Amino acid sequence: MDVRYDDRVAIVTGAGAGLGRCHALLLASRGAKVVVNDPGGSVDGTGGANRVADAVVAEIVAAGGQAVANYNSVADEASAQGIIDTAMNTWGRLDILVNNAGILRDKAFNNMSMADYEFVNQVHHFGTAYCIKAAWPIMRKQSYGRIVVTTSGSGTVGNFGQANYGAAKMAVNGLINVLRHEGAKYNIRLNAISPSAYTRMTESLLPPDIAPWMKPELVSPMVAWLCSEECDQNGEIMAATAGGYARVQYFVTEGAQFDPAEPVSIEMVRDSLGAIRDLSNVKPYFGMMGNVVEKLRDMGRIK
Ligand code: NAD
Repeated sequence: MDVRYDDRVAIVTGAGAGLGRCHALLLASRGAKVVVNDPGGSVDGTGGANRVADAVVAEIVAAGGQAVANYNSVADEASAQGIIDTAMNTWGRLDILVNNAGILRDKAFNNMSMADYEFVNQVHHFGTAYCIKAAWPIMRKQSYGRIVVTTSGSGTVGNFGQANYGAAKMAVNGLINVLRHEGAKYNIRLNAISPSAYTRMTESLLPPDIAPWMKPELVSPMVAWLCSEECDQNGEIMAATAGGYARVQYFVTEGAQFDPAEPVSIEMVRDSLGAIRDLSNVKPYFGMMGNVVEKLRDMGRIK
């Protein structure tokens, strides 16, 4: 059976261009009523124009779908509340929230002003938190919600000149890692998309031979899947680029275990680094405690 979103109301932030536009078009083409949020503006978050969101609404409506524009910024709590209010005032419900809005203010950390550090975090990290915070009571009350946050390899593995952006993109992973526990019993699922696509944000950064294949619309099927009722993944990071899809996951090494009844010296740590850092025997990391409990039991320190 096809995946559909009939009777579902979705918000896509930053949906006036690039990836967000493609997410909004796909969700609407499968029956979702979509709030197309976008204040317009340039890649660094300055300026603004209503026509950016209006154009995507017009595209959706022309294709027979339902959409409404919202021009608020996610980067301010009251303004983010206004985005959620648009969904509630227009259609009386909210089922899907795709946190996609984003900007860049790249500079080597040495030259980066803390104002630029803060503003990038304000959009990506706090913007995501403000939207989720406003959507949360609605989704809890109806015992249903699908939330996607947008992370980046810039945070997971780092990228020169993006200290503000990389930090903010990891913050949203931490946020869903916690909220997936708090929302589980209300059937609220939160997952992250780690995209790589040719948009105005990346047009000067991508290798020219690969860039044409990195179509933003190829990221959207994974985002839309994470927004579906059928999806019961929770707290996962899914990577998508150029028609390729994969899961991003932390792994932990077998490591070294000393008897906690005895002191551990710096030298013992140094001399065990081979085992501590050895990547040949790793397992998915769901928290260190599992490993430690097993090892302390083997040592007879706990039952
Ligand atoms: P884009 O610049 O084409 O689109 C971003 C959209 O967000 C724009 O339309 C912009 O107006 C909007 N926006 C900016 N500030 C906003 C705010 N305060 N409130 C609401 N909307 C705002 O860029 P894109 O490549 O489509 O990026 C979409 C998301 O994907 C971003 O979060 C970005 O960081 C992330 N991302 C993109 C890539 C990539 O390869 N393109 C890689 C990793 C992560």
